[in-house]
Amino acid sequence: MDYQSILNTIEQKLDKRNCKGKVAAYIPELAKVPADKLGMHLYCINSGHYSFGDSNEKFSIQSISKVFTLALAIRFVGDKLWDRVDVEPSGDPFNSLTQLEYENGIPRNPFINAGALVVADVLVTHLENPKKELLDFVRQLCEDDTIDYDERIAKSEAASGYRNVALMNYMKSFENINNDVDEVLDFYYHQCSLAMSCKELAKAFMVFANAGKQLSTGKRILGKQKVKRMNALMQTCGFYDEAGEFSFKVGLPGKSGVGGGIVAVHPQQYSVAVWSPMLNEKGNSELGMDALEELTTLTGLSIF
Ligand code: GLN
Repeated sequence: MDYQSILNTIEQKLDKRNCKGKVAAYIPELAKVPADKLGMHLYCINSGHYSFGDSNEKFSIQSISKVFTLALAIRFVGDKLWDRVDVEPSGDPFNSLTQLEYENGIPRNPFINAGALVVADVLVTHLENPKKELLDFVRQLCEDDTIDYDERIAKSEAASGYRNVALMNYMKSFENINNDVDEVLDFYYHQCSLAMSCKELAKAFMVFANAGKQLSTGKRILGKQKVKRMNALMQTCGFYDEAGEFSFKVGLPGKSGVGGGIVAVHPQQYSVAVWSPMLNEKGNSELGMDALEELTTLTGLSIF
């Protein structure tokens, strides 16, 4: 498979597309990111890596971080986590509060904000230094000790995160948050502020394409069953109320973030990250989805 020429074709096709998406503005620091950034990076399980555009530029990974925190949390509490977070697609926006009321404060899945906040609460309970230990985990996956939080982004979200404060307090009223609300929110805003490039994200997600083992060392990071389940959750819940559309168009497990990044994996084939900050009305990168749709069409490699 000539991945590089396929990526070049995708770049040319995207160039001609008229994107109607908008850069996220509800976190003021994110609104400063130039709208025309575009990059893509693909790691193949057995034949190197390929890229185009701004694939080496770091951006705010936002909700993509929910995959890293979920992986860490299920390492600590295993199946007990599912008593506090469900595994069903929500069909609602990422920051919705509505379903919590009739589901007794149990979020529909770990990738909507409510679910990720419960996962963050679990990590605050179990980790001695949650911010450091999350960073160590992501650095290990990327084999890169320079990965870091972007304090400006974390601060900016903390100053404007009214929805997340509401979600936390609402879930605490159902006794599904065990720690101090502000402490958990501080951890959550930091995880969302992780600054990574497409290249770094694609490398980190290789563990989900490679059945839980680090590609370069063969070291097991996550059990096979855990990876199978995480990929299933990315497939069914990774794009909120657009998860069906992403499956329909792209056909891969994946996760998006409001920074404009999307990471997707094809088990036993590749992991791929794309970044374009212009979001559609569901909060997912418009050109990022187009790029991945082209990728699975041109390669003939989706999971369907
Ligand atoms: N930090 C963002 C928030 O909590 C993450 C949302 C996202 O990327 N979908 O609103």
